[in-house]
Amino acid sequence: MNPIEEALKIKDEIIAWRRDFHMHPELKYEEERTSRIVEEHLREWGYKIKRVGTGIIADIGKGEKTIALRADMDALPVQEENNVPYRSKIPGKMHACGHDAHTAMLLGAAKIIAEHADGLSGKVRLIFQPAEEGGNGALKMIEGGALDGVDAVFGFHVWMDIPSGVIGIRDGPFLAGAGIFRAIIKGKGGHGASPHETIDPIPITAETILALQTIVSRNVDPIESGVVSVTSIRGGTAFNVIPEEVELKGTVRFFKPEVGDLIVRRMKEIFDGITRAHGASYELDIEELTPPTVNDKRMADFARRVAGKYGFRYGDVKPTMGAEDFSFYLQKVPGAFLALGIRNEEKGIVHPHHHPKFDVDEDVLHLGTAMEVALAFEFLRA
Ligand SMILES: [Zn+2]
Ligand SMILES: [Zn+2]
Repeated sequence: MNPIEEALKIKDEIIAWRRDFHMHPELKYEEERTSRIVEEHLREWGYKIKRVGTGIIADIGKGEKTIALRADMDALPVQEENNVPYRSKIPGKMHACGHDAHTAMLLGAAKIIAEHADGLSGKVRLIFQPAEEGGNGALKMIEGGALDGVDAVFGFHVWMDIPSGVIGIRDGPFLAGAGIFRAIIKGKGGHGASPHETIDPIPITAETILALQTIVSRNVDPIESGVVSVTSIRGGTAFNVIPEEVELKGTVRFFKPEVGDLIVRRMKEIFDGITRAHGASYELDIEELTPPTVNDKRMADFARRVAGKYGFRYGDVKPTMGAEDFSFYLQKVPGAFLALGIRNEEKGIVHPHHHPKFDVDEDVLHLGTAMEVALAFEFLRA
C-alpha cells in the first residue's frame, strides 16, 4: 500500500470535509456538530469509540503496540474576512488556526487505515480532541484515557511558515511553554494634589513593569529564550485622584521548564521587592497554561525515515513562541508534533494563524493524511 496514492484517491473528500467544518466552526468545548460527524464516519468504518465530552477516542486493530494520532477540532472567536465559497457561516467564529484541516486530514487517515486494517500488526488510536485554543482539551482527553496503553503519539499542525506540501520535523523544543499572570499593586489612594498623603500605585507599577523587562534581558541566559509581556494595565479614573490600586495582566513564554521556573521566581521577587520599598502590597497569580512542546528525538528521526521512504518533501521547522496543548501528550508518551506547510504565495495563502484572512492550501491536505497513515503502518511494522 502506498499511503500517498491512497490519500490522493480521497483528496476531494478530505477537502469537502474540511470545507464543511470550515463553514460550521465551533468554539472550545462546543464541538457538538463536528464531533457528531466525526463519530458517524468512524463508526461506519468499524472503529471502537469512546466519548470524552465533545472529544473522541477511536481504536482499530489488534496487537501489542499502539500508535496514537491526534487532531484538534475547535475554532476561534474571529470574524472571517475571506471571500470564499466555504466562508464561515457563523458570525464571529472561524477556523483561523486550521483545526478544520487537522480534523479532515485525520478523518482521511481513519478511512484509509480502516480499509487496510487487515495489514495492521497493532492498534491505531485516533484522538479527536476539543479545546486546543486555550482550553487544554488535551488534558481532558488524557484524563479520559486517551494515552492508556499508547507507545507513541503524533500530531500535525498546518503551518504558514513553510512552503506548501513540505513536512516540518523538529527535534526537541518546538513550541513554547505559556503562562498567564494577573497582578494587583495596592497602594493608598487620595487627592492628586497631595501625593505625600498617599501611596501612589502608579509609579510603583511603572517601576515594576520596567523591572520585569530585566528578567529576559538580565536574568535568563542569553543563549536561552523567554518572553515576559505586560499586555494590560488598569488603574485610576480621574485627572485628580490617585487610585487605590492598579491591575496588570500579561503572559510569559519559555522553551525550557527551568527558564519558566526562573521567570516565575524573578517575577515574585520583583513584585515583592518594589512594592515593599514603597510601602505598598501586591497580589500575583501566575497560571501555567501549557508546558513547552518537546519532540522526542527518536520519534522525530522515525518520522524523517518514514517521510524519506515514501518520498515526502520534508525539512526542519523553526521553533515558535506560540504554544500547543499537544505538549501534554508528549509529557507522557514519546512522540512528535509535525508541521505541514500550507503557505502558497500564488494563491495568496500567506496570512498568519489566527488572522481573519487565514486560509490553508487545500491541495496538500492529502499529504498530511498520507503521512499519518504512513506513520501508523511503519510504526506497527517495526
Ligand atoms: Zn491556534
Ligand atoms: Zn492550532
